[in-house]
Amino acid sequence: MKVYLDNAATTPMDQEVIDAIIPVMKNDFGNPSSVHSFGRNSRSIIEKARKQVAKFINAAPAEVFFTGGGTEADNLAIRAAVNDLGVNHIITSKIEHHAVVETAEILANKERIKISFVTLDTEGNVDLESLKLLLDNNKDKKTLVSLMHANNEIGNLLPLKRVAEICKLYKAYFHSDTVQSMSHYEFDVRELEIDFITCSAHKFHGPKGIGFLYVNQNIQIKPIITGGAQERNVRAGTENIIGIVGLTKAMEIAYRDLAEHQKYIQGLKSYMIAGLENILPEIIFNGNPKKNSLYTVLNVTFPNSELDEMLLYNFDIEGIAVSGGSACSSGSNIGSHVLQNIGADMTKPAIRFSFSKFNTKAEIDYTVNVIKELFKN
Ligand code: PLP
Repeated sequence: MKVYLDNAATTPMDQEVIDAIIPVMKNDFGNPSSVHSFGRNSRSIIEKARKQVAKFINAAPAEVFFTGGGTEADNLAIRAAVNDLGVNHIITSKIEHHAVVETAEILANKERIKISFVTLDTEGNVDLESLKLLLDNNKDKKTLVSLMHANNEIGNLLPLKRVAEICKLYKAYFHSDTVQSMSHYEFDVRELEIDFITCSAHKFHGPKGIGFLYVNQNIQIKPIITGGAQERNVRAGTENIIGIVGLTKAMEIAYRDLAEHQKYIQGLKSYMIAGLENILPEIIFNGNPKKNSLYTVLNVTFPNSELDEMLLYNFDIEGIAVSGGSACSSGSNIGSHVLQNIGADMTKPAIRFSFSKFNTKAEIDYTVNVIKELFKN
């Protein structure tokens, strides 16, 4: 049996997305910047897609900038905040995706930007009082708060609206990496009053290498990739029309079937939690999977056994694709910065299971059974 439980890394493409892309690949090859009919045709497909995408998050089309994925969108938001908005202080957390935390640290080193980290509790939740305190202590600075909505390793969810309100109070810009949650939850940027959010299509059954950055209309930013006037001078380079159509279709499907899939996938996660608790009571769930948690992600620390370093490999042998997320005591394997920073027991192996609408209860049964066999002794 082959079981794919690594959907937070990437998801298989939806057949409906593939069907939407193929005619574009065949027919709509014109460069959207060309003035002739081939170009105008491509331009009109892209602008129609932008309108649709904007509608899903209640944004204006001019607030959506297509990028080469989530990493680029995060980079663009953070670097533009420093380059163009006068930001000289970044507040973030130590459990952000590398696209955020590494970018913030590079800017801190190179541009002498101050960087501050919010306090996290042992479940990995952001302490909002510490955020307020950091903002209060740095009132003389122009601050960007960059905190992710759903953590890609442990699934914790940030109360976006509350953080946005705090940022507003202190006149700080607010960027949230919403790569893991976009198309898994509803977004209303007008209601949220947020400055930047990001998206990556391959996390919800769309193509890889395409995403977007939402930028609030009151903000003017300049490109970090230069050399062309595409995306209204914010992202140079010939547009990825195939990706844009694929992203839009994937979003359309996701929001069309949202309630049904949320319920179904949450059901699989709860089923797996119950199955694991039943066979291995000593396991630890990282984050807070039973409370406020992304329904596609489950992070588990397993007890020590002779399998420790080989656990991931053993899953692979049994046909189960998952991600590792624990410290490796030797060699070049660096442990998960997320687990490390929430104080997880790094001497034990941790695995991230992540689910999609294509998974089944039978696959969960199979996986739980494999785990039961692996930890038999
Ligand atoms: N942010 C988060 C939270 C992610 O999980 C990922 C993907 O792993 C990214 C950003 C990067 O997105 P992309 O793979 O599109 O560059």
